[in-house]
Amino acid sequence: MSDLPASLLEAVRYYSDLDICEDKMAHMKWEGGEPCCPDCQSKKCGRIESRRKWQCKECRKQFSVKVGTIFEDSPLSLDKWFVAVWCIANDKNGISSHELARALNVTQKSAWFMLHRIREAMKTGSFRKMDGEVESDETFIGGKAKNMHKAVREQKIKGRGAEGKTAVQGILERYAECQTRHDELHSDEWEDHCQVATARGIPQAS
Ligand SMILES: [Zn+2]
Repeated sequence: MSDLPASLLEAVRYYSDLDICEDKMAHMKWEGGEPCCPDCQSKKCGRIESRRKWQCKECRKQFSVKVGTIFEDSPLSLDKWFVAVWCIANDKNGISSHELARALNVTQKSAWFMLHRIREAMKTGSFRKMDGEVESDETFIGGKAKNMHKAVREQKIKGRGAEGKTAVQGILERYAECQTRHDELHSDEWEDHCQVATARGIPQAS
């Protein structure tokens, strides 16, 4: 996939097109990238181009591609989020929130928050927002899902989790420098794994 960004600068340029970001997000969230109403699951949705939203033709609810994801309650747009995801998926552990802030023209605090939220999402294996769990940034960063009893967590994440997991794996597949088989990749240890994989000299994605 040689058209994918290879540097932070390229990533900023590539994802500056919101259409690209939203299209990618839609394909990660919905089968075939076709919008699906978060309320009634209807696939009869009309596009409201000026608002970058869809409206369900059944229940009239309006929603954006960010609905139900960790990006939903953030005022930052997907073009900025995707650069941050790119940084982490490319295992650029060295990237500081200061560096990202400069690249994205956001405050250092925002950049810090983005990096942490994405790392936590990678740990839980999902970009899905968990019902009732995400009331504040701190709640999410605290990694509640991780601390949940296994049975509780599985029940809570079931159904929605699988989809989100696919999304993360898709991102990892496409952007990760250290490639590996899915089943080798324990989502809560993926950062460690990346380091191990690099040390082993596993070929890196181009
Ligand atoms: Zn609906």
